[in-house]
Amino acid sequence: MHKNEWIPTVCYQCKAECAILARVENGVVREVKGNPRARGKMCVKGMAGITTLYSSERLKYPLKRVGERGEGRFTRISWDEALDIMEKKLRELRDRGEAHTFTYSMFPHSTTDPKWRFVNAVGGFISTGLPHCDSGKIMAHLHTFGCFPNHHIAPMYYTVPKGGLMILSGRHPFGCLDDACVPRDILNAKQRGAKLVVIDPIFRTEAAKADWWIPIKPGGDAALFLGVCHYLLTHNLYDKAFCDKWVRPGDMEKLMKFIKDKTPAKMSRICEVPAKDIVKLAKMCAEAKSVCIDAFKSIMYGNAMDWGHVWSILLVITGNLDNPGGQPLPEIAPMAPVTPVPPAPNLKELGYHRTGPNKDKFDHYNFILE
Ligand code: SF4
Repeated sequence: MHKNEWIPTVCYQCKAECAILARVENGVVREVKGNPRARGKMCVKGMAGITTLYSSERLKYPLKRVGERGEGRFTRISWDEALDIMEKKLRELRDRGEAHTFTYSMFPHSTTDPKWRFVNAVGGFISTGLPHCDSGKIMAHLHTFGCFPNHHIAPMYYTVPKGGLMILSGRHPFGCLDDACVPRDILNAKQRGAKLVVIDPIFRTEAAKADWWIPIKPGGDAALFLGVCHYLLTHNLYDKAFCDKWVRPGDMEKLMKFIKDKTPAKMSRICEVPAKDIVKLAKMCAEAKSVCIDAFKSIMYGNAMDWGHVWSILLVITGNLDNPGGQPLPEIAPMAPVTPVPPAPNLKELGYHRTGPNKDKFDHYNFILE
């Protein structure tokens, strides 16, 4: 038993999982702070984590509903009983070829999160995640790159060089939403000579710190960046060497065809950012030493997947993947295969349902992601 010592651990008040130290006194956490060996920051939400740990409301064991749904009556059951109930229901679904009807509100923390293996073993699932949190980005990055950034969800701002460009699109790190080190890292990068562009309908703290604040119609980010991609691609300002090396044969042609009518003038009518500013942003992206983008609130709309895909494409055509100041990609650790392979779900279509005004539309990712 630890009498009174500082234990290295991680905060789990949000998914940034900042490295922290916890002072444990006779088995009770008394104090937490950022771990100086890992850039040493913690936000107020993280510091309040001790109250969650010892809250009388904290769920510590499985509960089974005994009354009618909504009645609020539950009884405590053992973990074995809870696991048996879930296993039986999932097995029944799989045996009926309906594993895909299993709805799982999962938030994978990395490409190699064991939760992926769990859904592989079940044989399919419906993700509820798209306009929730930044799942649109995660799923779009996953479909485009085959992986998504783990651990530090945000770009690694401490790697942004002089002349680099940081774009926050509906993202509010100065409110300490995800990764307590980010505000300081962004300001340090600015001091090194990097530029900060903030795209947000509202002038917030981030805008006050920015070199350029671009007000935008809420939900217009995908259109804005399609206009940026259009300008880069049609003015030969994209990173051709990177695309030649990394983009699958034929996909650039499909992208060129798709982007043809997404002109800054046309996209301006959707996002309400003047076309000349879309062009200016495109030129900044082309001239910058590195470009990184981060979004959060802007990727919680019904078009979350569209915005996530445009975001992914912009990183590719500017060659900003796995470079200092760009979007880091994780190492993919090998995982044990699922055996036996579960039967394929009995599905007519693969893809995703939209939410919002186009909710009846079904997309198949057939744009450059076939
Ligand atoms: S950003 Fe704050 S709440 Fe999130 S993990 Fe870091 S310290 Fe905890």
